[in-house]
Amino acid sequence: MVKIPMKILLVDDEKDFVEMLSLRLGETGEKVTPAYNGKECIDILEKNPVDVVILDIKMPGMDGIEVLKEIKKRFPLVEVIMLTGHGTAETAVQGMKLGAFDYLLKPADFDDLRLKAETAWKRKEEHEDRIRKAEAKLLMRKSGGIA
Ligand SMILES: [Mg+2]
Repeated sequence: MVKIPMKILLVDDEKDFVEMLSLRLGETGEKVTPAYNGKECIDILEKNPVDVVILDIKMPGMDGIEVLKEIKKRFPLVEVIMLTGHGTAETAVQGMKLGAFDYLLKPADFDDLRLKAETAWKRKEEHEDRIRKAEAKLLMRKSGGIA
């Protein structure tokens, strides 16, 4: 079977970290787009379909929470996983209350990250599937069919 790649947007101001993680995720067949700040993240989301955003909290300019709010406002179906250092774990929990799927403590374990990203992706797929079914049902009702 052909594996459908997850479309991951990786946002972190630490270039080495982004490059290393992009490489590893690429090796496991995922489609990774790197971004190094919040503005870049939003620009990419405007132009490309993305399943899961892995989002650093501490960044210069727009911080992760601001970026998360913008994502949830404009692209509500995109799932977000927050990346946090030990000092900002509480902020990560705040992020979850604002709609982030989960968070990861840095330095993130690769398998853990992959698993969380896959679970987030699955949730997005299921959510979109329910929306499609609801739309189909609505159409049936409108056309006078039984639904
Ligand atoms: Mg950072």
